[in-house]
Amino acid sequence: MPELPEVETIRRQLRSEIINQTVVRAGSHESQKFLPAREIKGRRFTELSRRGKYLIAECDDQTELIVHLGMTGQLLIDGGEQSSTILDQYQRAWWSLDNGKTVVFRDVRRFGRIAVVNKGDYSQIPTLRDMGPEPFSPELTGDEVWRRTRGRRRRIKTQLLSQRLVAGVGNIYADEALFLARINPSLRSISRPQAQRLLDALRTILSEAIERGGTTIRDYRNLEGEGSNQHHLKCYGRAGQICLVCASTLRSRVIDARTTTWCPQCQSR
Ligand SMILES: [Zn+2]
Repeated sequence: MPELPEVETIRRQLRSEIINQTVVRAGSHESQKFLPAREIKGRRFTELSRRGKYLIAECDDQTELIVHLGMTGQLLIDGGEQSSTILDQYQRAWWSLDNGKTVVFRDVRRFGRIAVVNKGDYSQIPTLRDMGPEPFSPELTGDEVWRRTRGRRRRIKTQLLSQRLVAGVGNIYADEALFLARINPSLRSISRPQAQRLLDALRTILSEAIERGGTTIRDYRNLEGEGSNQHHLKCYGRAGQICLVCASTLRSRVIDARTTTWCPQCQSR
């Protein structure tokens, strides 16, 4: 599933293509979850921002087109260099712009979502409404992360995946950040120093992944192709292999239905 670095990579690549462009045609799959895509016809995009794993395209009439890529969602540009390679039965929505290009939302498994809301009104999208701070927010401190974990009874891995502790982290970067911060994913409470290490680790892991264009394991593609962060993962998906820090064997278990990998030595309780 695309996480913060993948969505941010797409945002940076897509932004210059759509800013100040007017949607001259809009279409979608008949499914209810993609129908809102059609409402955007006639509107002009004024900004493309990101909140957690959501892309938010602001329009000139004070509305926002919100796109969540789900598990397999991709945003692609047709009419550009990739033309003709992307139009297939998995195309769920599209917006033709007055520069002659078309933004295509392709989603094989259809866990993605499209919504159109009044600017800033996320009452119908609870995950977005209740989202925690952006990990790169300059106001976010280790103490604030610690404060937000206090009194929570869920495991730190689950808290990360919930989007309420910080925004944008999924299974890949949760495992990578907890490994770098030397925090056991099963812990239900963490210390102040651990919270600071976790925030530092998240910023390191996420910014490196953005620089590498994201992690391409299954379906994720950015506008220029595959990311390269998958070649740099130290923990996620490496259960049974040797820890690159201490040479112990990495272990895995399921925490809240998600496979979690950790080093029993570096991330001991
Ligand atoms: Zn280790």
